[in-house]
Amino acid sequence: MDLSLTKEQEQFAQTFEKFCQEQIAPRAQDMDRSGELSQDNWRALVEMGFLGLHYPESVGGVGADWVMCAMAEESLAKACASTFLSAGASSGLCGGPIFHFGSDAQKKRWLTPLIQGDIVGCFGLTEPGAGTDAASIQTRAKKAGDKFVLNGEKALITNAPIADVACVMAVTDPDAGPGGVTCFVVDLSKKGVTKTAAYRKMGLRGSPTGGLVFEDVELSADDVVGTEGAGFMQAMMTLESGRIGMSHFGIGIAEAAMEASMRYAMEREAFGKPIAKKQAVHFKIADMKIEIDAARLMARRVAWLKATDQPCSDLASVSKLYATEMAVRVTDLAVQIHGGWGYTDDYIVDRLYRDARLGPIGEGTSEIQRELIARALLDGGQDVAST
Ligand SMILES: Cc1cc2nc3c(=O)[nH]c(=O)nc-3n(C[C@H](O)[C@H](O)[C@H](O)COP(=O)(O)OP(=O)(O)OC[C@H]3O[C@@H](n4cnc5c(N)ncnc54)[C@H](O)[C@@H]3O)c2cc1C
Repeated sequence: MDLSLTKEQEQFAQTFEKFCQEQIAPRAQDMDRSGELSQDNWRALVEMGFLGLHYPESVGGVGADWVMCAMAEESLAKACASTFLSAGASSGLCGGPIFHFGSDAQKKRWLTPLIQGDIVGCFGLTEPGAGTDAASIQTRAKKAGDKFVLNGEKALITNAPIADVACVMAVTDPDAGPGGVTCFVVDLSKKGVTKTAAYRKMGLRGSPTGGLVFEDVELSADDVVGTEGAGFMQAMMTLESGRIGMSHFGIGIAEAAMEASMRYAMEREAFGKPIAKKQAVHFKIADMKIEIDAARLMARRVAWLKATDQPCSDLASVSKLYATEMAVRVTDLAVQIHGGWGYTDDYIVDRLYRDARLGPIGEGTSEIQRELIARALLDGGQDVAST
């Protein structure tokens, strides 16, 4: 495994980090307070090409390699995890299935505008009664001649309140189990689509999350992404990339928490000295650094495997689980170092602590990652029918 960076990768990472700190981070605290995604942050992302990093130039993307994407994602999550989450849901979770499985017409109509930031996308898998157990979704797309009629409800969907388009998983053949699920690209301005109010969340408040209700929404065969019945497999593949992104989410948040803690520890005095002089604070900072480094090495291994076209599903789970649980531990330490002020939103660690908590839940819970990791070891990596 070669983890050394080329000059181009190094320069790219430095430019992206500087850009995120200057253009994205200053609005993160206000987004958390207002509960709204900043349009200025969205425009900044578009300007930097973030939404098209993973995609080739032929569809309007940047064509960055996996290592560059990893570093850029860390920088963005460090600057503002809400912006990161909404950007990932739009260009990655919604754009991904269209790019990998969609028709040229779907790419032109939906993917390029998603990458260019002209429209916002979302990914509709979870339902009120089916999250981890994704194979038990109830949303139904019933065939009627050469059309489909969509009925059902999606819940906890990132960007749903502001999205223009969604990749929606729906059952087309109720007797075929996971093989009866189809992915549809749904224009959310269609008759019969209702967006529910955004949830009031613990963290990631600048990234709107909501539900989608479909009542007799007419879809055509052209709205099927790939082939009928392939939706479950497509969703699992999309979530594997999402897991890689979630590792960077955890690492970025933890890095922000460590840097904030170091700044605070050097400024804050107790008993006549900066608290940075206390051994108890040293130990916390050292533990943060060790944990972040371990998570970053795991994530870089996955990026390298991806870049060299090698399978890495189980290692993506290892990385996702460790990085996201690590971020919860590191942000907890950061709040502790800030004392009572860490419990207020005068400092960013309160936001980081709340934002980090999504990591072990979203894109496959920690419990499911542990299942996947154990199954890969025990029976050679059978896919499990769950997110
Ligand atoms: C902020 C936010 C954004 C989200 N964005 C999206 C999105 O864009 N698109 C989307 O489709 N979904 C999205 N989700 C939903 C998310 O993917 C689900 O919340 C997640 O998959 C868990 O599903 P659930 O909430 O239904 O929990 P459940 O599946 O009900 O799980 C509850 C608990 O039981 C455990 N559990 C369940 N089954 C097992 C098992 N077999 N073995 C061991 N433990 C188990 C879980 O690990 C968990 O601890 C989002 C959620 C949040 C909070």
